[in-house]
Amino acid sequence: MSILVTGGAGFIGSHLVDHLLAETDYRVVVLDDFSTGSASNLAHLDTDRLETIDGDVRDESLVAKLVSGADAVYHLAAAVGVKTIVENPLDSMQTNLEGTKNVLEAAAASDSTPTFVASSSEVYGKSEPVPFAEGDDRVYGSTTSQRWGYATAKAADEFLALGFHAERDLPVVIGRYFNIVGPRQTGQYGMVIPTFVEQALAGDDLTVYGDGTQTRSFTHVEDAVSITHDLLTTPDGHGEVFNVGAPDPTSINDLAKRVIELTGSDSEITHVPFAEAYDEDFEEPDEREPDVSKLHDALGRAPTADLDWILRDVIDERTDEVIA
Ligand code: UDP
Repeated sequence: MSILVTGGAGFIGSHLVDHLLAETDYRVVVLDDFSTGSASNLAHLDTDRLETIDGDVRDESLVAKLVSGADAVYHLAAAVGVKTIVENPLDSMQTNLEGTKNVLEAAAASDSTPTFVASSSEVYGKSEPVPFAEGDDRVYGSTTSQRWGYATAKAADEFLALGFHAERDLPVVIGRYFNIVGPRQTGQYGMVIPTFVEQALAGDDLTVYGDGTQTRSFTHVEDAVSITHDLLTTPDGHGEVFNVGAPDPTSINDLAKRVIELTGSDSEITHVPFAEAYDEDFEEPDEREPDVSKLHDALGRAPTADLDWILRDVIDERTDEVIA
């Protein structure tokens, strides 16, 4: 019995692999192209129940072969983050559209293998007001602003997954991740928490973009992966979309202050205009918060709203690194 995790060497994927190895008796097969994922995310796992394949989700025959040997699939492989899609639009769109199509096609062909598809709170675009519920309308910007390519690709992935459920009886569930954070996330792709923690520990200014009143609901990766596992193993949720996030918005100003407090750093906060931080035409959602009623109804729980838990784990990881 085995489970396939695409993107399993990535930040969320590697925590999901940890969870599946700890909570099930299955073998876990990871498919990852190591573009943003890293072997070091799995290096702590010394077990013959884990197999890692270096490959691309756009490789249709490889995906078909791996899915046909799996009893369940978690599809997390994607070109991550808006910055990546702005810098490499074609490659990112192809990975996020073709990769998902390949996984779903193969899962439907191999006796309807239960499949989780990772989506994103980005699909809510610049909608308002918060909190966002799964059935709410979405508002996106123009196709001439590549920034919306990520949201559009993830929304198309959701349509594809729901289509496979409706027409091919595929037991599929979609999770919309809201600002998932925790150990192993790098600041390399612009994510705010690892960036602030690294700046605070180095004594550098924390770079708050814009006026810092924008809010995000941060969710610990361990919560996100345990909910992910429960969603796929709860058949009532198949054919459905769920928000996966802690309903606890924090402003970026408050986040920066808390990082400084918890690290005991002498760093200051500096405000950087959005136009300097991103491209000129970059549009930022002001507020982002999940409505978790649907998740609660399905699982009887939702992620824990506990920013300090997240920050302490991220700080501890960095501090250990410094000491080691
Ligand atoms: N942000 C910031 N400074 C940074 C990186 C990000 O102020 O060094 C802001 C960013 O503009 C956004 C929020 O923090 O308002 C969360 O950014 P992140 O990239 O982590 O996730 P997003 O919500 O944009 O997907």
